[in-house]
Amino acid sequence: MENYQAPDDLLKERVILVTGASDGIGKVIAMEYARVGATVILHGRDTAKLEAVYDEIVEAGYPQPAILPLNLVNASPEQFKSLADTIRNELGRLDGILHNAGMISELGPIEYTSAEIWHQIMQVNLNSVYLITHACLPLLRESPSASIITTSSGVGRKGRAFWGPYAVSKFAVEGFTQVLADELEGSNIRVNAINPGATRTKMRAVAYPAEDKYQLKTPEQIARYYLYLMGDDSGTINGQSIDAQPK
Ligand code: NAP
Repeated sequence: MENYQAPDDLLKERVILVTGASDGIGKVIAMEYARVGATVILHGRDTAKLEAVYDEIVEAGYPQPAILPLNLVNASPEQFKSLADTIRNELGRLDGILHNAGMISELGPIEYTSAEIWHQIMQVNLNSVYLITHACLPLLRESPSASIITTSSGVGRKGRAFWGPYAVSKFAVEGFTQVLADELEGSNIRVNAINPGATRTKMRAVAYPAEDKYQLKTPEQIARYYLYLMGDDSGTINGQSIDAQPK
């Protein structure tokens, strides 16, 4: 996987939903999926930022994407259902989801974490992964071969002081991935997690404001893992949690 090179047609005629596609890792991976032929559904909460990604994809000559804005913090279950209905009505199919959208707050002890921040982080990082997956499973069932990728973190495997609800949400995402993968074993749908590792983005800068960001890998440098797990070349892999920056 470390040396994987995706063929130019890896995701040709596939429709892939990328959450949090307006910035950071999600933006770069959405571009990469489009580069190898996918019609990408760009999800985020900021329409202007999504339109800028849309324009980049069109200007590069890749398949025309779609934009689906939805703020995950306060979205209702009906809005998740309507997101899936829109995909069915506008695009007619869905072959993969990259659950990438994520939220972090200032790091600090659980003792001083407010209920509001706790709920917001659980809503964006965990509940939305369930709600989007649940709404979209009927569409994914109709795909010849579908892939769901969730996004984990190092602090989702070993707890660390001050990472509070963010770490807890990522532990739960690992659990969600394992449970769903086991339920779907032998079906047309695979479910795996990626831990991107320390990556040069806005979120990383919030968590580590004093760090030299030029020492970090860019999203482009870890993209091959996201390509591999989304395409049929990883067809036998299910229920794994993969490090995009293995030690
Ligand atoms: P990022 O640059 O902050 O991007 C996060 C994305 O999620 C953005 O598109 C953001 O939209 C979107 N988002 C946040 N809150 C949202 C909401 N309420 N509704 C809809 N969309 C929302 O972060 P990143 O570093 O690329 O992180 C991507 C994923 O990797 C996350 O799940 C993160 O936990 C995980 N991760 C990152 C690192 C790292 O070192 N960077 C390490 C381990 C795991 P806006 O553009 O509107 O803000």
